[in-house]
Amino acid sequence: MSRMTLLRKEIDGLNQQLLKILNKRAEIALEIGKDKQNHGYPIYDPLREQQILELIIDKNTGPFTDEVIIRLFKEIFKASMSLQIDNLANDFKISRKVKRENTIIKVKDLYVGGKAKTFIFGPCSIENEQQLTDSAKIISEKGLKFIRGGAFKPRTSPYDFQGLGLVGLKLMKKVTDRYNLLSVVEVMDKEQLSIALPYIDIIQIGARNMQNFSLLKAVGKVDKPILLKRGFSATIDEFKLSAEYIISEGNSNVILCERGIRTFENSTRNTLDISAIPILKSETHLPVIVDVSHAAGRKDILISLAKAALAAGSDGIMAEIHPNPKIALSDANQQMDFSEFSNFYKNILE
Ligand code: PEP
Ligand code: MN
Repeated sequence: MSRMTLLRKEIDGLNQQLLKILNKRAEIALEIGKDKQNHGYPIYDPLREQQILELIIDKNTGPFTDEVIIRLFKEIFKASMSLQIDNLANDFKISRKVKRENTIIKVKDLYVGGKAKTFIFGPCSIENEQQLTDSAKIISEKGLKFIRGGAFKPRTSPYDFQGLGLVGLKLMKKVTDRYNLLSVVEVMDKEQLSIALPYIDIIQIGARNMQNFSLLKAVGKVDKPILLKRGFSATIDEFKLSAEYIISEGNSNVILCERGIRTFENSTRNTLDISAIPILKSETHLPVIVDVSHAAGRKDILISLAKAALAAGSDGIMAEIHPNPKIALSDANQQMDFSEFSNFYKNILE
């Protein structure tokens, strides 16, 4: 055998050893990644990386220079980190891969995400006792159990009606107690969350706050269900990750709500993304409902949208109703009056 052949054989052997060592190293890195996730430590730890490099360089006798060794090891670190991140993505708590069966959320004596569809109707904003009572009455007459209504309103203009705040929350509690309903009310920050908690049953996180990560973490620590709305410029993946934020803090009772996204189309306020429903249903185990009112921004197409959403696998429908939409303090164009509501509800049940 020539010297060259012998040396090449030796290189082949070393490559095999390197391969084994690299994969062994990757396996340990994956285990470390799991521990980091369990303890809530960040995946990337620059201090630790610096320490490892110093230990390695200290033992470097060449012929590779320190710079080359650092470059090679940094490549290994990067590959290990990608492996850890990919592994965590498979482990997402929202993922169907992790939990095959549907999450069914118990809210008092009712269930969201089970066989029965969930219908959440009510005014855009809580405006006064009469308005909310009238709404609760018609909802309850139809045998429905959920009522929505905003006490803190995320308005585009600071001069528009901002909601009744605590007064509105108290009205909601009074009305839900009287009609035996469950409420869905939005909060926009941690302070509102602590004010609202004693008065409401389901906490809504609105489209504008879908990526308010500190708020998501805060609602992840409460023991009430969260209705998380999709941001109007958020991708489905971003929406899923926002839900993961909540669940990763311990609250697994998250209802996803598709409410339309912003597109170039201006015949509707937003474009209802029907595709999001089967995608969210297959990739996550969470209940998915559809808010047709904020998707459409108009009333004449709500029946079609709701039927389409249910056909696509939605677990429920949200829509806005008001005893006198013309004088509503917010979203006057899209709220159904009670006869429109009755017609809507009758039609979507067919
Ligand atoms: C709402 O439901 O009251 C609301 C403001 O909706 P969105 O956050 O989807 O715009
Ligand atoms: Mn509204």
